[in-house]
Amino acid sequence: MRPPRITRLIKYPVHARPLVTRRYLSKLPSREATLAKFVFPSATHCVRDIRDETTEAVTLHGHLHKKPRVQAKRTFAELRDVNGDTIQILLSPESTSSKFFSLIEKSGPEDSVSVTGHIKKKQAKIGAKGVEFEVVVSHLQTLNSAGVEAARLDKLKHASPADIPAKYRYLQLRTPFYQNALKTRSKVANLIRNTLIEKHNFTEIETPLLFKSTPEGAREFLVPTRSPSRLYALPQSPQQYKQILMSSGFSRYFQLAKCFRDEDLRADRQPEFTQVDLEMSFVNTRDQVTAVVDDIIQKVWKETSSFGMYQLGSDGHLHEILKGESDSVPFTKLTYMEALARFGIDKPDLRSNLQFVDISEFFEPGKNPKEFPVVEACVLKNAFKNTEPFKIPHSLTDSASYSKRKPVVIKISSVEDAEKWFEKFCEKGLMIPKSGFTAAKLLQKLGLGPGDVLAFSTRAELPYENPTPLGKFRQLAIEEFPGKWNRPIAKSDGTFVDDYKKSEIFVGLWVVDFPLFSPVELDAEPNAEFPVYSTGDLLATHHPFTMAKSEDYEMLESSPLKVRGEHYDLVINGVEVGGGSRRIHDPELQQYVFENILKIKNHEALFGHLLKALLMGCSPHAGLALGFDRLCAMLIGSQSIRDVIAFPKNQSGSDPVVDSPTDVPDATLREYHLQKAVK
Ligand code: ASP
Repeated sequence: MRPPRITRLIKYPVHARPLVTRRYLSKLPSREATLAKFVFPSATHCVRDIRDETTEAVTLHGHLHKKPRVQAKRTFAELRDVNGDTIQILLSPESTSSKFFSLIEKSGPEDSVSVTGHIKKKQAKIGAKGVEFEVVVSHLQTLNSAGVEAARLDKLKHASPADIPAKYRYLQLRTPFYQNALKTRSKVANLIRNTLIEKHNFTEIETPLLFKSTPEGAREFLVPTRSPSRLYALPQSPQQYKQILMSSGFSRYFQLAKCFRDEDLRADRQPEFTQVDLEMSFVNTRDQVTAVVDDIIQKVWKETSSFGMYQLGSDGHLHEILKGESDSVPFTKLTYMEALARFGIDKPDLRSNLQFVDISEFFEPGKNPKEFPVVEACVLKNAFKNTEPFKIPHSLTDSASYSKRKPVVIKISSVEDAEKWFEKFCEKGLMIPKSGFTAAKLLQKLGLGPGDVLAFSTRAELPYENPTPLGKFRQLAIEEFPGKWNRPIAKSDGTFVDDYKKSEIFVGLWVVDFPLFSPVELDAEPNAEFPVYSTGDLLATHHPFTMAKSEDYEMLESSPLKVRGEHYDLVINGVEVGGGSRRIHDPELQQYVFENILKIKNHEALFGHLLKALLMGCSPHAGLALGFDRLCAMLIGSQSIRDVIAFPKNQSGSDPVVDSPTDVPDATLREYHLQKAVK
């Protein structure tokens, strides 16, 4: 029988496509129609296996990628398989029966299908590269319809998958972008596991998710129990358990650990996230830990990224870490003080060459010189052509771009500006020239010329503003002038390249020797120009378990704020990807830090378990945690960790797919000794 002529484009009449919300079903669904969805041929091929025409039938499984195009003589559809590869499927009157035509008429994008047919070369389009194939269908089976909603949302999938509403995350995840994102994540997890276990002799150990409430920095999630006033807390990190494991005879532990922090979610954070958490015992130098991490990071980049990993050479240029090399290279280490003095932040983006010039030898600050004595400048060389009109971008001068203080930003339009820019600031009393000051020496030090933009500010000797005002200016300038002031890449033939795309270059760096403690910042008066710190209350910069640098040991008693910690952070392109430290394994010192420096009154109740484990001959140990989600996002070139998490929470902390968190019945609340707050 000739198949019916179908000439109009398929619309999706509601009766033909299942709706998402169904009415109450009083009857068992029909046996034939339902069981037909469970019996289907096994796949013989994936799209990428098809390399030639076949006379024998092949079977492919997948989803209909687009709305089928129904034409008078032939009907086309496109199948997308589990790898995200697509192939045209063709239903011609000669090869298919009317049953298939009516089936395809009812089908729509994202239906799950099984297709059987033979493979034929597609007619080559003009300019087409290589041969393309299509499946001439002899059997098509719809295994599940996708519904009206999926058809309506289909155009969003082809524009940007992220535009599909988040409650249909599974439709987003079917697109090649997310398939690649989650497959990369899985591959990276596998590589890290293999490298740590096979090469570095680590043991993977899971630690409990039902933990106890202890202050570790962020706000915790609490889990009520049916015993009155007894609650678990979800771990912010497995820090304490992993240290206890170091007292348990496992010398090298790791896990891909779920961590929970009830924090502000605006800055692309998730309340639950994953860390590659590791700890090593009998460690006598931080380099033992950083070497393992250099190895994991570089291996992962070599095997999963098409972009290069670089590091800062002693010549100040970037050097590529070559893919072919099996050994890893230690990433450069920069102290916290160097990072703050040169770049104004503890996580500098080294793809930019911008760095600061200390001009304190020329000027004393007019305001608050005791607390903020350092005067520093940053020059945006050739930011504009002084022959053309130029306005400094608003973002560089707008107070809203800076959290508190902002630097002075001026343009240098003439030689006279370059030589005399400071005069008006000295007249206003903002800076006081020091004895021996000469304008010529200052000009030489800054190397200023017409067309430059100059920013200057003050900072504390040991800054707790992070970024400093000038550090924030540097970040803004990098964003505002993309492609400018790129740090040159040194090539093996002795040449240099600096016109690269920043998104294709990754630069790793260790920042070390952080201050072990930080003062608490006090609430400032409304118009206060400078931050004010309490010198009495100290916080652990990293966490309370980090060891002091031995050179600074005595200052734990005399001036704890001056003590540097054995803490190290891994920074890639200005993002903190991980952090860790050598730990205090001496129980007395740990107790001293709790009691005398951090003044934690109930430390016995909070951390007694750890002190006890340290007392039982716990070996010296050190470790680190890497932000696994952030790492994977970088590897797929995304700015957002949501892209590499299958079911992320939105900015109000709920999961739009399952609509959590939810209310629970009062009876359940009573069981947990909870009651709703009365409004
Ligand atoms: N537990 C620390 C953190 O989550 C990492 C570490 O010190 O190993 O930042």
